[in-house]
Amino acid sequence: MMVAMSPTASRDLLLGDLDDEQRDAVLAPRGPVCVLAGAGTGKTRTITRRIAHLVTAGHVAPGQVLAVTFTQRAAGEMRGRLRALGGNAPGASTESVQAMTFHAAARRQLSYFWPRVVGDTEWQLLDSKFAVVAQAANRAGLPTGTDDVRDLAGEIEWAKASLITPEDYPVRAGDTGRDIPFEAAKVAEAYAGYETLKTRREGLVLLDFDDLLLHTAAAIENDAAVAAEFRDRYRCFVVDEYQDVTPLQQRVLDAWLGGRDDLTVVGDANQTIYSFTGASPRYLLDFSRRFPEAAVVRLERDYRSTPQVVSLANRVIAAARGRMAGSRLHLVGQRPPGPEPMFNEFPDEVAEAAAVARTVKNLVESGTAASEIAVLYRINAQSEVYEEALTEAGVPFQVRGGEGFFSRQEIRQALLALQRAAERGVAEDDPLPEVVRITLEPLGLTGEPPAGTRARDRWEALVALAELVDEEVAQRPQLDLRGLLAELRQRADSRHPPTVQGVTLASLHAAKGLEWDAVFLVGLADGTLPISHALAHGPDSEPVEEERRLLYVGITRARVHLALSWALARTPGGRQGRRPSRFLNGIAPQAQRDDGPSRPRKPRGPAPRCRVCNSALSSPAAIMLRRCETCPSDLDEQLLGDLKEWRLRISKEMSVPAYVVFTDNTLIAIAESLPSDDAALVAIPGIGARKLEQFGADVLEMVRSRRAPT
Ligand code: ATP
Ligand code: MG
Repeated sequence: MMVAMSPTASRDLLLGDLDDEQRDAVLAPRGPVCVLAGAGTGKTRTITRRIAHLVTAGHVAPGQVLAVTFTQRAAGEMRGRLRALGGNAPGASTESVQAMTFHAAARRQLSYFWPRVVGDTEWQLLDSKFAVVAQAANRAGLPTGTDDVRDLAGEIEWAKASLITPEDYPVRAGDTGRDIPFEAAKVAEAYAGYETLKTRREGLVLLDFDDLLLHTAAAIENDAAVAAEFRDRYRCFVVDEYQDVTPLQQRVLDAWLGGRDDLTVVGDANQTIYSFTGASPRYLLDFSRRFPEAAVVRLERDYRSTPQVVSLANRVIAAARGRMAGSRLHLVGQRPPGPEPMFNEFPDEVAEAAAVARTVKNLVESGTAASEIAVLYRINAQSEVYEEALTEAGVPFQVRGGEGFFSRQEIRQALLALQRAAERGVAEDDPLPEVVRITLEPLGLTGEPPAGTRARDRWEALVALAELVDEEVAQRPQLDLRGLLAELRQRADSRHPPTVQGVTLASLHAAKGLEWDAVFLVGLADGTLPISHALAHGPDSEPVEEERRLLYVGITRARVHLALSWALARTPGGRQGRRPSRFLNGIAPQAQRDDGPSRPRKPRGPAPRCRVCNSALSSPAAIMLRRCETCPSDLDEQLLGDLKEWRLRISKEMSVPAYVVFTDNTLIAIAESLPSDDAALVAIPGIGARKLEQFGADVLEMVRSRRAPT
């Protein structure tokens, strides 16, 4: 039997564990309230309590409250906290409060009002706009490759979220200095075409996610009866993470309010990390200008993290510039002291991942739940080395906000392409790293990162795969393509989704609003964070500032343990040309260089040696060239030219790609070592019995004629 609680008891439950400022925000009279506060200060806690308080005090019925946020996960978090309150303080009955994303709210409302507003025309949700955008791209004369279409779709989404019409797109996109892989006028044309294509069928319109918001706003704005009914139904609005609102979402919010002011918003401008999608903190920062009578509450006490973590967060964000930085508060850590954050430098990413996996394992063995640990990185392609290292360490994990590395579409395609190459017996004698790069080139593995967000994503993943291959080959120089595929498949298979809650692997973007006992911020090399395409806008640009805020978001996810690390090279033996993130300048103490035991190496044969200086070779390129990349090359340029010409002719005759005859590196090796007989020829990597038989005589003849005195 449930015992009814006295109002005082439930009030105590709602307010007892709040600080004075939080309580001010919760108890503020009906009307506009703005909580402007840093990470971990209890913003989400405060709004859920405010909702419960308004309900228990009888100011509003639970069904009249609409609480919105931006991601499904954040909405779920809010529902969870409301449910917990309902359980603890039964009088609060927050169960029927609507807590959902902007999109879910709009979808529900539109379904309800549509027949009245639009009449007979049906609507259908366009779950994926890909096909329609592709068609529009085609008509506008834009390329229609998968990545092109996705980038174009991203531009259309940004424009719609920013309330920018096709006509205005070129000017506005130019003003914001967006990275657009196409001519702006063409994007505008495709955008206009896309909008038309969605309505081409008689009696049916297709609505994308942004249309749901647009039409909802329009229905309320244009139809007095709809507005009256809606406003009667919802009377109190709450928005979490308000720094992420887009102009389109703000328009919906304004339509909902319709001049009323029962609105509570909470946010932290210094956690604005979604500007590229059109989100803007200006609505948060301008809130008290718009509602001069608003109760504005600032929270400074950080309840999430130890003073050590808080101090680091303060130092990182102190260097921020621009308008958002003006709103920052100096956070004061409330938890008991904990360990100092660690800063670790590693020779390469494999060593970095191995060390992180070791520390994670130690934490788990000493009692930290795996679900209370997170490894956070800048881009999803960085997950691969961590998936591998944790798998080897036997620690369960799950990849959030992106699939595991081997489930990525481009990686699955890449393995398929390698599989086909193996079946065709392509280039059996050639160095594997080269075969792999050549096979993956058509999938997007170009020498330089391409323009466009999606294309770059895909490129990063393919680079990660190619580097994984380099590493395998460095360890097992005898590996052939089939052996390599077996190895990769085994890696993929060993990563079964864990049956227990494991360590979270996530991008910094996907970690917003969440918290863990232990957080590892990895890959903090300059060029990765800040990411190079942000740096391309200039060292003091807004995109670089957004990267700084990403680091701030990452640091403030940690309750107790925090480790920051970076690697000087991507792969073992690679050039150690990297530097730690510029955001750590003057912040990271004398970094700990950790060359410690890297993950157990598989047994390898005798190390190949440089034929110039005889030192051991480790990098794949050096192994292919059979000399250090820095050792002088005694290359016969003229011969190399002849060989390439010959290869072109042969490959045409055979109707095969040139690399199937010989790869560039094989030709270079020939032009360097000038083999005089079959034995010398087969000693060159990339030349086996088959190639010797096919091409040996030709090659030896070319070498001989170069050697003969002219
Ligand atoms: P973010 O900016 O990352 O979204 P936030 O400001 O929303 O953070 P919350 O998630 O609400 O912060 O709170 C951070 C942590 O501190 C949570 O674990 C919360 O339960 C706890 N907390 C908040 N306020 C208090 C308080 N007054 N006393 C004790 N713990 C608190
Ligand atoms: Mg929060």
